[in-house]
Amino acid sequence: MWAFQLVGWQQPPELREVPVPEPGPGQVLVRVAGAGACHSDLHLMGAPGPLPGFTDLPLTLGHENAGRVAEPGAGVTGFAPGDPVLVYGSWGCGVCVECRQGRENYCQNLAGQGPGLGGGHHGGMAEYLLVPAARHLVPLGDLDPCRAAPLSDAGLTGYHAVKRSLHLLGPGSTAVVIGAGGLGQMTIQVLRALSAATTVVAVDTDPGKLETATRLGADEALLSGDGAIARIRDMTAGQGAELVLDMVGVDPTLRMAAQVARVLGHLTIVGLGGGALPVNFSSPPHECSVAAPYWGSVTELMDVVTLVQQEKIKVLVEHFPLDRAAEAYQLLHDGRIQGRAVITPHAECGRSGDDGSVQT
Ligand code: NAD
Ligand code: ZN
Ligand code: ZN
Repeated sequence: MWAFQLVGWQQPPELREVPVPEPGPGQVLVRVAGAGACHSDLHLMGAPGPLPGFTDLPLTLGHENAGRVAEPGAGVTGFAPGDPVLVYGSWGCGVCVECRQGRENYCQNLAGQGPGLGGGHHGGMAEYLLVPAARHLVPLGDLDPCRAAPLSDAGLTGYHAVKRSLHLLGPGSTAVVIGAGGLGQMTIQVLRALSAATTVVAVDTDPGKLETATRLGADEALLSGDGAIARIRDMTAGQGAELVLDMVGVDPTLRMAAQVARVLGHLTIVGLGGGALPVNFSSPPHECSVAAPYWGSVTELMDVVTLVQQEKIKVLVEHFPLDRAAEAYQLLHDGRIQGRAVITPHAECGRSGDDGSVQT
């Protein structure tokens, strides 16, 4: 089968022919319908060398995956060939206390591992994906596996980041999302769905992304910079926002985040932009908590699926066949993907969109 693989650090990934994996006992082979192109992959491609937890290259990219069960390994119950599934991507040990609570993203033994991210697990930018345990599969029900992949990272990460701060989002509250790309667009919708009482502010450098953010439910859409800071402070009577989510994470956005967060608020760093947040007695504001959440739990992913089934949130998908994966990443790098690029290794996915989604 064909797989889009990272073959060397700071080198462009390549399409290579590799054997179709065979599922061992307890494992599941998934026929990939869609694999999302996340900005984290661009950070990975640009890394000078292996990150902690990495084994060898080549490594098939794609940590945001959906498809259909192709072959359940011996002993697997609950899933049959053809079942549409979303793949929970943070693969822990399965036995530590965090894993047993569904938070494999914070596994005490294998932190940070996932398909296409490290730990020797190949990702979903290939015709088939080997999933090491059936517990990582979430049934999609009547959702289309060709379009669902972004839920497993962009959707889940945004959902988790909002959920942990939901107690701050009462009537009259304000939430700011800096960076309205793949993750930000899901996060704006989650905020809208979970807290009708919150004013949602989107901030981006790209007017097209701001237009999309407004369409997805943002009350205000502001160009990144001093004007946005002034406007947010003005809207909140000088107090700042209860929740500020920085989906970019570079020095200027972190600085902005500290200036628009309020006393007792939350400043949440989701973007891996590599910036640093200066912290002193008065900035961020007093008792404003700072956290950098990573991904989310498998039960939160089930919540995200439910939100899509209830039509409370949707995914804007741009489909690309596997042989155009490099182009999809180039467009993402250049800021020219309006929603989420999803790589479709099989011909049956990727051509029709009837819900206002972006298609190529
Ligand atoms: P994306 O490229 O789709 O979106 C990034 C958005 O940020 C774009 O709309 C861009 O215009 C905007 N932007 C860039 N610079 C900006 C600035 N100075 N001010 C305001 N907006 C700006 O990327 P994505 O896939 O949504 O990923 C976003 C970030 O989240 C990446 O750094 C990615 O690595 C990270 N990420 C983190 C986790 C986690 O678990 N913490 C999970 C997935 C992705
Ligand atoms: Zn990601
Ligand atoms: Zn564990």
